[in-house]
Amino acid sequence: MSLEQDLLVKPLTARVNLAQPQDLKAYEASGGYVALRTAVKDLKPQEVQSKVKEANLRGRGGAGFPTGVKWSLVPMGPDSGAKYVVCNADEMEPGTFKDRLLMEGAPHQLVEAMIVTAFAVGACTGYIFLRGEYVVAAERLNKALAEARAAGLLGKNILGSGWDYDCFVHTGAGRYICGEETALINSLEGRRANPRAKPPFPQISGLWGRPTVVNNVESLCNVPAILVNGSEWFRGLSQGKSKDGGTKLYGVSGRAKRTGVYELPIGTSAREILEDHGGGMKDGYKLKCWLPGGASTDFLMPEHLDLAMDFDTIGQAGSRMGTGLLTVVDDKQNMVSVVRNLEEFFARESCGWCTPCRDGLPWSVKILMALERGQGRAEDIAQLERLTRYLGPGRTFCAHAPGAMEPLQSALKFFRSEFEAGVAKTPTEAGVAKTPVAA
Ligand code: NAD
Repeated sequence: MSLEQDLLVKPLTARVNLAQPQDLKAYEASGGYVALRTAVKDLKPQEVQSKVKEANLRGRGGAGFPTGVKWSLVPMGPDSGAKYVVCNADEMEPGTFKDRLLMEGAPHQLVEAMIVTAFAVGACTGYIFLRGEYVVAAERLNKALAEARAAGLLGKNILGSGWDYDCFVHTGAGRYICGEETALINSLEGRRANPRAKPPFPQISGLWGRPTVVNNVESLCNVPAILVNGSEWFRGLSQGKSKDGGTKLYGVSGRAKRTGVYELPIGTSAREILEDHGGGMKDGYKLKCWLPGGASTDFLMPEHLDLAMDFDTIGQAGSRMGTGLLTVVDDKQNMVSVVRNLEEFFARESCGWCTPCRDGLPWSVKILMALERGQGRAEDIAQLERLTRYLGPGRTFCAHAPGAMEPLQSALKFFRSEFEAGVAKTPTEAGVAKTPVAA
């Protein structure tokens, strides 16, 4: 298949070359910056917004909020003042490594998307908030931004249009909570990365109190192709597997044969992702359960594998698609240990701003550690269940603790006997009270 044909089927990854990412010349030769030229010369900002809205592009960061709708909430007009575009590239969701692929393999694609998005919402400055450990991505994005600036695609008077816009990479200092958009904004402003109350949503009051659009890397990278090939083409990429538009970067981690990232029509079944593209489980291991997209989703069972991996279908099954990169758990893993590992991560990454999250997450770790050692108390399981409610939706300042409770609540539902097996046989063996707090 030629690159041209490939771009019509896999618009996100057709250009991805990790060994030799396209420089500006190669990117332009493959149709790069055509979307920007079209937008600036032939379209009004609202027309770009409409095309993205009609494409049914839903946010790929994990929550699935419609991208075009998000943009349409930004105040427009000559008096709307300074506005910002922020790319959320703080990819820290466990088991998720899709945005890294796009940024390292095709950096100009994201740079073009940042400029087109800024045009669509009338922004003056853009920031790519990048996970600090992604040093290769930082280097390649900075090089691509410099090339774009030198070619008059970024900076003052873009393509002779009279419009000024510049974009910068900002590297994070390694906190998961910076992926939460309002914590990210606080961090960009040089403040402590605590989340802010929503509403107001960033589209109205974001960076320095100004209207700000925050979008995930994968969401943004779809934008140039929508402008070039049209909204109808984009909706058709799902091949009728979902009412959402586009392809999706899916992936597998855990004991599968071919772990990795694969670009497929959105709505592809989890079975096809795991078995056809991930090669199935490694020899000697059976699938016990799986997380659809990151640690902050509910476990699903092998009987759920035929479900379409899209936001609505996975939501109706009692979980969330999240980032769409499956984590598989095999039959040799103990669920108490799996969940303890996840909760340790969440407890460590809590910003400590609100009490249920700050104190509840370490408490869940403490109980899970005792159960893991066979030193739990009979009442511990009921206590874990209470924690899933106390830390659930509506009880905390942001989605961190409710997300952390999703794997725990579903593990308790599907694998209760494994938790019960951790209860001490005699009262003297029950060590919870003596166990030092681990997180
Ligand atoms: P959310 O549902 O509150 O918001 C998602 C987006 O939609 C935000 O940009 C928000 O501003 C917008 N939005 C939601 N309701 C809106 C409204 N009424 N009006 C205007 N805009 C609205 O979710 P969230 O807390 O931002 O994100 C949680 C998600 O992040 C989870 O799904 C999780 O899987 C994911 N996540 C991803 C990573 C990663 O590395 N990709 C890391 C951590 C978490």
